[in-house]
Amino acid sequence: MTGAHHSDSSIVTISAPDWERLVVEACRSGQIRLTKPRRAMIAWIAGQHALFSTEAMAAAVATLPERIGRATAYRMVEHLRETGWLSRIRTERGVYAYARTLPGHHHHAICTRCGTTLIIEGCAALDTLYALLETQGFVVQSHILELTGRCQRCRIAEEARTFGG
Ligand SMILES: [Zn+2]
Ligand SMILES: [Zn+2]
Repeated sequence: MTGAHHSDSSIVTISAPDWERLVVEACRSGQIRLTKPRRAMIAWIAGQHALFSTEAMAAAVATLPERIGRATAYRMVEHLRETGWLSRIRTERGVYAYARTLPGHHHHAICTRCGTTLIIEGCAALDTLYALLETQGFVVQSHILELTGRCQRCRIAEEARTFGG
């Protein structure tokens, strides 16, 4: 999971069970108290195979035995985003959706169909752009870069539909 140089780029993925385990560990080590409702929400997020909206999560977790309130669900999503466990992107329909990720500075290539997230470690891909901007006297101080598209599986599925009639 670790070890990528800042100057290299490498792509990592994280499985849902690994993500769930790491978030639970982070909560236990003191980020927030791991209450029953929070534990249930972490499990719900780990169970998602697509990007999800806060709205969708609030509606879903309200029906769980824990009967989690809307405000609690919204706060949890915000907490996980702030602590780096969720990445927020704007979907093709212009609404915000969330995908699982790992804390730290990363870039993401997110499939907007199924939510598969490739985590890009390192920023080497931006070197050319930084050099180009420097020729204009511009010094970059920070950056955000998120990529959206289709994962291999969804691309193949879509192509099969197109050609299969
Ligand atoms: Zn996909
Ligand atoms: Zn970067």
